[in-house]
Amino acid sequence: MIESLQHLPPAAGSNGELASQFTDLAPPLTARQAAVEAARCLYCYDAPCMNACPTGIDVASFIKNIHDGNIDGAAHGILKANIFGGSCARVCPTEILCEDSCVRNNPSEREPVRIGLLQRYAVDNANFTSHPFQRAPATGKVIAVVGAGPAGLSCAHRLAMLGNDVVVYEARPKAGGLNEYGIARYKLPGDFAQREVDFLMSIGGIHIEYGRKLGENLSLAELHTRYDAVFLGIGLGASRALGLTGEDAPGLMAAIDYIAALRQASDLSTLPVPRRAVVIGAGNTAIDMAVQIKRLGAEDVTLVYRRGLESMSATGHEIEIAKANYVRIRTWAAPLEVLLDESGRVSGMRFEQTRMEEGRLVRTGGYIEIAADAVFKAIGQSMSEDGLQESLARELARDGDRIQIDSRFRTALPGIYAGGDCVALGQDLTVQAVQHGKLAALSIHEDIQARISATTEAAWPT
Ligand SMILES: Cc1cc2nc3c(=O)[nH]c(=O)nc-3n(C[C@H](O)[C@H](O)[C@H](O)COP(=O)(O)OP(=O)(O)OC[C@H]3O[C@@H](n4cnc5c(N)ncnc54)[C@H](O)[C@@H]3O)c2cc1C
Ligand code: SF4
Repeated sequence: MIESLQHLPPAAGSNGELASQFTDLAPPLTARQAAVEAARCLYCYDAPCMNACPTGIDVASFIKNIHDGNIDGAAHGILKANIFGGSCARVCPTEILCEDSCVRNNPSEREPVRIGLLQRYAVDNANFTSHPFQRAPATGKVIAVVGAGPAGLSCAHRLAMLGNDVVVYEARPKAGGLNEYGIARYKLPGDFAQREVDFLMSIGGIHIEYGRKLGENLSLAELHTRYDAVFLGIGLGASRALGLTGEDAPGLMAAIDYIAALRQASDLSTLPVPRRAVVIGAGNTAIDMAVQIKRLGAEDVTLVYRRGLESMSATGHEIEIAKANYVRIRTWAAPLEVLLDESGRVSGMRFEQTRMEEGRLVRTGGYIEIAADAVFKAIGQSMSEDGLQESLARELARDGDRIQIDSRFRTALPGIYAGGDCVALGQDLTVQAVQHGKLAALSIHEDIQARISATTEAAWPT
């Protein structure tokens, strides 16, 4: 919790000055820029960019629509495949997905077509008079979705489109999952995440109950009995621990908790900000934490990783953002000890240097100490077990700590499906969670309809 840093001074500067550090990282294209960029697309047959998109957006076709001035058509094509097309256009690591596979991504062509920015242009500038998708005739079926993140809401939207009603149970006071509470503030600035939720809800047939937490005031067994199917999209709510003494000391906290507080802060000048910070980790969360604390005014930010730069899971683009924000990256150092001052607060970290020996990471016996007023751990997320303690939930098969599913998003329990970060498949990306939700909705709908057909056939033998 952010209370862990309450002994630190608040950010220097007014809310307005600080907010100016968190404006759009990648500003939108103007109409002219969009037209020029759209003209660079070759509208490839069997376009590799489309195959690289986890939600299968028909990239060539939406870019052609932009080129022809049909912005609503372009947005419709994007949202049909990915109802979170607006946020994915802002947060997707396009440099390792669609833009990486673009045929123009080679030195002689200068750079790939800027698909992410074009997608954003289309979705932001569409002018729909009502929700762009019609609901199919009512099926009379009601499905429970647990978790209002990208996976849960994508599932809810597709189920509603197919004619079902959906009740979404969300533990937090707002919907959107990590789009609302986790993504860096300069990637999804302002109230974009909430506007996107409002947009997708406008299809109708979806009701969200807030403050309903599985394992606390919501039971899986009850949902299983009451609804025609259940989808679990509960993400990965817990932060991995360092396993060191002093982990609970004031000054040490999980990066995701600080980022959530930063995203929800209406006045950034109230946030406690260390002068010197250490961030432990190598993924995009670690980079987001380091860059955001630097932008809030920390003078000296060091990101520490136990392996080499080439093994970092953050993309090259993210690492460049960290460097551009003067974040120091220290590799080959494993956390060893939390250093505390005489009042028991964090004063730094001791690390043991590491190296690779015959393919294994080993400690060298050399030590480094980095002084810090705050240490943020960003060494990965795991499933919060609180939600899965009741006897029925314990019957869900697991892959490690994640929920095991088959290729149709079915868990080991009939009628219960799962997707997004909480399951074992794929990368932990927003776009992947959206695709899981969409495909799970199709499975749920087909399974329910198949059950109805089987019952009808049994009742009317030929
Ligand atoms: C700091 C950070 C930065 C990221 N940046 C990017 C990025 O730039 N680009 C990108 O593509 N991906 C990024 N990701 C990953 C991306 O946010 C996730 O892959 C995506 O949000 C997963 O969606 P989800 O719906 O599975 O889970 P979540 O978004 O985590 O949503 C899960 C929802 O379930 C609710 N919930 C949890 N437990 C319960 C319970 N027991 N009962 C009821 N409700 C519950 C939660 O409150 C939440 O609303 C980032 C992740 C983090 C942590
Ligand atoms: S690969 Fe590049 S050029 Fe080809 S359709 Fe996709 S965006 Fe256009």
